[in-house]
Amino acid sequence: MAKSLSPVCKLCRREGEKLYLKGERCFTPKCAFERRSFAPGQHGKTSGRGGSPGSTGRASDFARQLRAKQKARRVYGVLERQFRRYYDTAITRRGLTGLNLLQILESRLDNVVFRLGFASSRAQARMLVTHGHFTVNGRRTDVPSMLLSNGDVVSVREGSGKLSYFKELNAFAEKRNTPAWLSRDLKVMSGSVARMPERAEIDGSLDEQLIVEYYSRR
Ligand code: SF4
Repeated sequence: MAKSLSPVCKLCRREGEKLYLKGERCFTPKCAFERRSFAPGQHGKTSGRGGSPGSTGRASDFARQLRAKQKARRVYGVLERQFRRYYDTAITRRGLTGLNLLQILESRLDNVVFRLGFASSRAQARMLVTHGHFTVNGRRTDVPSMLLSNGDVVSVREGSGKLSYFKELNAFAEKRNTPAWLSRDLKVMSGSVARMPERAEIDGSLDEQLIVEYYSRR
């Protein structure tokens, strides 16, 4: 499984906002963005971020489109080539391309595990899936990028439920609300996709229109 090797906190500083990539740590004073909210690198304090929300300089249309695309990629932990593939799929679906793209990203298995409250971040969800701790419709899978559809059921694998992480998970998961497009049963450590999310149920800070514009000009 290919993954980005960039230090994740740098990604938040690059985008000029907290992307909440490290789970619980993001809500503590240890958050790197709280301590250094300027862009990384030698000229981080003085340079603009090329169109990111924290930038003070005027950004070109292209810079804003690029930043919107990079931000979405980083939030969902998707590499460029795969992100482009998702866009190509989104075009072929009926409806709004931008919303289609966001729905594809939301339907990734690692995102669903995160949204169900079985992990504190998408990165942790990705690791748990990779280690084979989940089943989809009763079949074990270790593919975090697997796209789920309506009715698919995600469960903690029977053997994994005995691990201390999953034994202690209920207390953590109970504190986290599950979005309405998913249903969850913590007693059996399972959840399912009731429907695809509507736009209002997806991170409002993502700008899918700019992402569509970015790919449309290429
Ligand atoms: Fe971003 Fe979280 Fe790191 Fe803070 S702790 S910089 S929100 S990934």
